[in-house]
Amino acid sequence: MIDAQRDENLETDPEQLGSVSPYKAGLKCKCPRCGKGDLYGGLLDVQDRCEVCDLDMSAVDAGDGAQIFVIMALGALTTLLGLFLYSFNLPKWALMLALIVFISAGSVWMLRIFKAILIALAFYHEAGQGQLVGGNDKRGQQ
Ligand SMILES: [Zn+2]
Repeated sequence: MIDAQRDENLETDPEQLGSVSPYKAGLKCKCPRCGKGDLYGGLLDVQDRCEVCDLDMSAVDAGDGAQIFVIMALGALTTLLGLFLYSFNLPKWALMLALIVFISAGSVWMLRIFKAILIALAFYHEAGQGQLVGGNDKRGQQ
């Protein structure tokens, strides 16, 4: 009863719904609805519910979308950093250690942000599973 009333207030309160930019919420790793509660409970685990607005985030799934962005962007950045560090004639072990640390820290950091942005964009655009309209399935007919 209280949750239903709270959701109804959020839907009718223009200050709380739609006022949060999905990019701001994503960059700050905050709740896509209120922009105040933390999105993550752990390093990359999305919380079941927002502690501020009680948004149910248990069904939220960014899929593999964030990983491909991180792989492409971090791969390019790592290559540039590797070429830059190579110009200093560092020992190979130091170059490798620097790149391993950069890749490890950068991938977790970028994955948190990209995943949060994708979740916020999905919430903002009300993305969901596709459904057939009506019962008239035209597949197989020619
Ligand atoms: Zn929230």
